[in-house]
Amino acid sequence: MKVKELVDICADPKCESFIYKGQIAWQHGPDHYCTINCFLRETQKK
Ligand SMILES: [Zn+2]
Repeated sequence: MKVKELVDICADPKCESFIYKGQIAWQHGPDHYCTINCFLRETQKK
């Protein structure tokens, strides 16, 4: 789990917010999340 800059869409299907360059986002494998809340919701789902 790390914080990095990127341009992507939040991997949480309930969110799908755009993640802009310079915005802090959370990475989990190939997926990116706009907030820690999205990250935890998806990564703790299983
Ligand atoms: Zn999100």
